This record gives sequence, structure tokens and C-alpha cells, in this order.
Amino acid sequence: MTYLQGLSGSIGNTPLIKIESLSKATGCEILGKAEFMNPGGSVKDRAALWMVEAAERSGELKAGGTVVEGTAGNTGIGLAHVCNSRGYACVIYMPDNQSKEKVDLLRTLGADVRVVPTVPYANDENFQKQAGRYAATLDNAIWANQFDNTANRQAHFESTGPEIWQQTEGKVDVFTCAVGTGGTLAGVSRYLKQSSNDVRVVLADPMGSALHNWVTTGEATMTPGPSITEGIGNSRVTENLAGTEIDESVQVTDQEMVDMCYNLLRQDGWFFGSSSGINLTAAVKIARQMGPGHTIVTILCDDGGKYQSRLYNPEFLAEKALQVPPSPNAT
Ligand code: PMP
Repeated sequence: MTYLQGLSGSIGNTPLIKIESLSKATGCEILGKAEFMNPGGSVKDRAALWMVEAAERSGELKAGGTVVEGTAGNTGIGLAHVCNSRGYACVIYMPDNQSKEKVDLLRTLGADVRVVPTVPYANDENFQKQAGRYAATLDNAIWANQFDNTANRQAHFESTGPEIWQQTEGKVDVFTCAVGTGGTLAGVSRYLKQSSNDVRVVLADPMGSALHNWVTTGEATMTPGPSITEGIGNSRVTENLAGTEIDESVQVTDQEMVDMCYNLLRQDGWFFGSSSGINLTAAVKIARQMGPGHTIVTILCDDGGKYQSRLYNPEFLAEKALQVPPSPNAT
């Protein structure tokens, strides 16, 4: 019998998928890690599991405890699943500028969702700070703190990185992905760089993030934005990202990302979220820069289901001066 051990055993070990249209167009192997196939539907399931297990190992989290996090998205979904599977309560603080679908989904999953006013990080009432303060008032509880808790990066050092190395049989030339907390890029970069001196690690950055400048100049100063992408880009270098070897940075505009997502839907049949669109656009830019014959791996972070009212809504795009690309079959 071949089976996976419950929910935790079903996180990770995702397939590596060749994106056919992009590989054909560039003469490179453009390969994506199918993180949308995790039980909670995103790359953040790995971080959620590793952060909970790290707290169990340290003794901070014991049976019947509570996991608290400030998050607007996939980390909360991952934590809600992991908490349900291990008998923990899950409390999620999120800002009030998020879509109702996300609040509803987290509540359906059983999380105690607390929607709080949207204020900058510097303000004490910021959702992440409220999460940290609330966790400190409880016994047997943790603040997951995905941005600065390096169990997040460790998840990708111990799972995503080795999986990519094995699946490519060590023939990966470039790894590229966008950064939210930085856990994925930092963990994978550390593993691949330890395995080979030849692997190039490239940041894929949306507009309105400070990380492109950080990689290229050393100063984390903001680039013009904003971007409609969700879960990626950052104004600061987190604990997870600090000290990561990154060889280069590629910026991707929202229009390039929109074109990528719609073209993949129409030509290849894939329905991806915005960060996957940023990652694949960066992969193609690098492929064009390097020429045919290279293997470029990236992350397919989540699918398009959560983005129907924004990325996949032509009226929303028009409000942001973005265009749905013409259909290849249009006359
Ligand atoms: N894509 C999506 C859809 C996400 O939710 C996130 C996490 N915020 C990322 C990419 C970035 O991953 P990481 O936090 O590991 O940098």
C-alpha cells in the first residue's frame, strides 16, 4: 500500500511540472513546484507545519494550545488546517481591507478571525502586533510570527530545496521566486547553494517592493508601486530573508504578470494566482537572458481561485489600468 500519513504527511513532496508553452518558447526547461497541490492550497502549508512543530519541540506549544498569527492569507489557511489536525485553537488577526472571501474561508476552516482596523506596521494597533500581544496573554499559546520565525525558512531548507534537487537530479541552473516573508527563497537558496556552487538564485520582485533595490544596491528602498499581487513584495528584510545569497533580481510589472496568468490559462490550461504569474515571468526573462538549454525552477505558489474578484475580474483590472491580453484565437 502506498499512502501519505494524514494531513501533515500530505504537505510537501509536490510534483515538479514542466510548463510546456514557456519551455517551448524559450528552449529552456521551465519547471514549477506545484505548491497549489498542498492540502491548504499553497506554499504556506510548509511554513505552517514547520512553525507548529518547532513550537511543539521547544515545549512552547502543548496539547490543547493555541496558535495565533497576524495574516491576511495563505499562512492563516495553512495554520487553520494544521491546528485542526492536531487539536489546537487557531486565532487569526487580519486587517479590515481584505476580501470577505478570505474571512469567510478562515471562519469555515474553524479559525477565530479578528478583523482589525488597517494601520501601518509602525502603529501599535497593527494586526501583526495585536497578534503578538494577544498570544502573550494566553497560557500554552504561540505567536507564529512567520516573518521573523526562521522555522519558516527551515521548512524550505529541509523540504522544498531537497525536493527540487532530487527532482532535477541536480541539474538545476537557476532558482527564482518572489518573496513575502522570504521563507521560500531563503530556505531553497541555502539548500541549493550548499549542494552546488553553480546554481544561480534570482529574486522575482513585484513593483512597490523594496527588495529589488536591496538585492541590487544593498539599500531596501521602495520601488514605485503599488502592485495588485498578494502575499509578495516587502518593505523590509525579514529575519527569514537576512543573510540569504541572492545573485540577481528581476522586476516584473503587474501587466506582465496579468499577461502571463491569462496566457497560461488559455494556452496551457493552468489557473494560477498572481505570485505564480510573477515567478513564471521572471523565469522566462532569465531564460531569454541565458539562452536555450538551461533548467529554471520556480514556485507555483497557489491557484487562481482566491483571485477571481481581482486578477481574474476584467473590471477590476481596468480600474487599475491593466488589460486582459487579447485571446490568441481572437480574429
Ligand atoms: N505567494 C503567495 C500566494 C503567498 O501567500 C506567499 C506568502 N506570503 C508567497 C508567495 C511568498 O512566500 P514566502 O512568504 O515564503 O516568501
